Amino acid sequence: MIKNVVILGGGTAGWMTAAAIAKTVGTKNISLTLVESEEIGTVGVGEATIPMISLFNNVLGIDENEFIRETNATFKLGIEFCDWRKKGHSYFHPFGLLGVDMDGISFTHYWYRWMKMGGSPDYTIFNAETQAARAAKFIRTKGETGPKLMPSINYAFQFDAGRFAKYLRRFSEKLGVTRIEGKVDHVKQCEVTGNINELVLADGNSVSGDFFIDCTGFKGMLIEGVFNAGFDDWSHWLPVNKAVAAPCEAATKAVPYTKSTALEAGWKWRIPLQNRVGNGYVYCDQYISDDEAHNRFVNSLEGELLADPKILRFTTGKRKSCWEKNCLAIGLSGGFLEPLESTSIHLIQVAIAKLLAMFPREEISDVMRARFNEEMSADYDNIKDFLIAHYHVTERDDTEFWRYVRNMQIPQTLADRLEIFKARGEALVRQTELFKEVSWFSVLVGQGMMPESYHRVADAISDDELQTRLTNIRNGVKKRIEMMPEHNAFIDQHCRAK
Ligand code: FAD
Repeated sequence: MIKNVVILGGGTAGWMTAAAIAKTVGTKNISLTLVESEEIGTVGVGEATIPMISLFNNVLGIDENEFIRETNATFKLGIEFCDWRKKGHSYFHPFGLLGVDMDGISFTHYWYRWMKMGGSPDYTIFNAETQAARAAKFIRTKGETGPKLMPSINYAFQFDAGRFAKYLRRFSEKLGVTRIEGKVDHVKQCEVTGNINELVLADGNSVSGDFFIDCTGFKGMLIEGVFNAGFDDWSHWLPVNKAVAAPCEAATKAVPYTKSTALEAGWKWRIPLQNRVGNGYVYCDQYISDDEAHNRFVNSLEGELLADPKILRFTTGKRKSCWEKNCLAIGLSGGFLEPLESTSIHLIQVAIAKLLAMFPREEISDVMRARFNEEMSADYDNIKDFLIAHYHVTERDDTEFWRYVRNMQIPQTLADRLEIFKARGEALVRQTELFKEVSWFSVLVGQGMMPESYHRVADAISDDELQTRLTNIRNGVKKRIEMMPEHNAFIDQHCRAK
């Protein structure tokens, strides 16, 4: 029987896992222990999320306003990409819907037709999230706060992941999770099965268990250190391998979106929280030295630094298998795709959801383990292709870095998708993929890839009818934005941190 579950690592991954197991499986029939080392610390970055995080909070039954106050969060409606297609150009990848799908086809086909008729290239006039983001407005229509008839706006959060982990620690400890402070030195394995039996701490104490969750960050102390699971290195497609990061003072008006600006050897993020702005320059050290990156980063900041910039190193890719024997890796120990579309915390959530669905009972099933590994691999793969597209589909050729990513050989799966998109305006998204048609549309069209044709159904209505429908949709978006309060005013009213 699996009775003692041990989580090694207390970063965002460790505490999200502990909280989710404690809340759902409970601590009545299993014991749940988390070991972490303050001396080692956490990666200390990770501020932008995607809308699915609300599902995680809902499963835990967390009050959203309390969560926002505790983590100094702001709302996030999408990402603005500046200088990615070419210098001086920007586009928006919004959460939420673009226009309204009609006659069984995506709205985008009507927009392509409209473009051929001389319509506005700014597709975001049909998307409420972008318009709200640009106007720094926000409303939450679920619960008690919004006019009942207004369609819901899609949002995520920009937050302090360190404070989130602390919040989840309190939450988990209340539900019976035992926390042990200490540095694991080595493990003891069963000689027959190879399973881990015990974590042995540097102080000589040990923690025994039946099932171990490796949340030790990049090094993957158990999944790699003990089981040599192997790593699919994707740096030839996603070459950035370092980030220099530091917070700066809060903006007077925190905007509800993340900004990503392409630089000479990568890109920089700007993520406004309630009490500070998170910043980082993600770069490839083959194309820029650490000193140059540091200087470029510091000189590009809009506000006083609140801490010394620190450099983080990483390799983009994923563990070949995240579940080996009685050890499952969640978080950075399972892989890292770089923070471009804020998918890491989401991948933690995905792994937790799969673990809960397949939670081991009497013994660990090889079939379940294989299924988990296969599904996680597919999730990483799909996101990987989407991220590569951001770099590859560009007009930039002003530095060696951009020339490399523009001309590099891309995965066949992505090449096929781009070919179809270019010819037909369809991204061929599978149901299980995280990024849907609107996301692919926003990024590919935003980066300058205009399809050559559109769906024939979009030609079935007259020009006048098309114009009327689009005008109605556009006016609907405008009206919604007019009714929304300022993003800051909304936070003041409902969830300002004390
Ligand atoms: P860590 O935070 O590294 O935690 C590891 C834990 O393991 C720590 O508690 C440590 O003490 C413990 N540990 C390790 N070894 C031992 C040992 N021997 N004994 C005891 N304890 C041990 N994600 C997003 O979703 N959005 C973002 O915007 C985003 N931005 C990022 C920017 C950068 C530059 C980077 C590098 C990452 C970013 N991420 C982002 C990813 C995000 O930071 C991580 O996914 C998240 O913080 C989870 O990290 P973790 O818990 O897996 O690892």
